[in-house]
Amino acid sequence: MDKQTAPEAKSLRIQSVPVGRFDIDAFVEREFRLDGGTMFGVIPRVMWEKLVTPDDQHRVAMQTNLFVVKTPDGKHVLLDAGLGDALSGFDRKMYAIDTDSNMTAGLAATGLTPEQIDYIILSHLHTDHANGLFAGNPENPELFFPNAVHVVQQAEWDEAHNTNERTAAVYYPNRLAAIERAGKLKLVSGTQEILPGITVEQTGGHTPGHQGVRVESAGEIFVYYADIFPSKYHVRTPFVASVDTHPMDTLKVKKQLLAFCEEKNAVIGFDHETEFMIGHLVQGKKWLDVKSV
Ligand SMILES: [Zn+2]
Repeated sequence: MDKQTAPEAKSLRIQSVPVGRFDIDAFVEREFRLDGGTMFGVIPRVMWEKLVTPDDQHRVAMQTNLFVVKTPDGKHVLLDAGLGDALSGFDRKMYAIDTDSNMTAGLAATGLTPEQIDYIILSHLHTDHANGLFAGNPENPELFFPNAVHVVQQAEWDEAHNTNERTAAVYYPNRLAAIERAGKLKLVSGTQEILPGITVEQTGGHTPGHQGVRVESAGEIFVYYADIFPSKYHVRTPFVASVDTHPMDTLKVKKQLLAFCEEKNAVIGFDHETEFMIGHLVQGKKWLDVKSV
């Protein structure tokens, strides 16, 4: 093939797995980059750069991986919303992105339009998880998923509206107001079943109101713990991102969740991993490791 006349479009990556009577489809909403030290916390660069190679600005490759849960009775639940396109120049610089979001194409690859999403469960409200909720002008956006109920922990909603010097850069209360205006906000506290077989559980750690999602059907379990396990390396317990507001809580909950996943042989969704989106735990030489499903 003549490379000059037929440039290969970067193919959209998707990954799917059945979980009992549910289907889970994952797609890459965006590729972005973030400071390596931010991602790996107390782990020294001389150790983490053997695992991932940073660019000349010390940033490592990341993705916003999104998951669509299709229920046996035809409901569609999106887990997190990625970065989207309603971004300011500051946002684009911060996340090192200069292309359009794959959101519409990714959903289409799973057979869906934004209008067909019934629920969106937000792990938390940081820009790289919540901004895909919005369309249009970032100063006064509309909802990208007009029919979806947006599920957020009360503690996370409160945190996003009471920012401090350490957290203000990653929350946009003015954008979040669009959810309330549309009457599509569902606040929950702690562990709660959202639909039969789909349960949210507050983990804390990364943020006080950070939540995970468990899908259980016919003895099979899929879990999505978002920024508790942002990459496959973060199943190593000391790998806790420096942005976590309560890192000791992350460490504690991580041990509990890993024990649970091992016991139940759970399938795990990873929100920022670049090699795959869905995997399961295996024992490595020193630490737990992850293999793609
Ligand atoms: Zn994140």
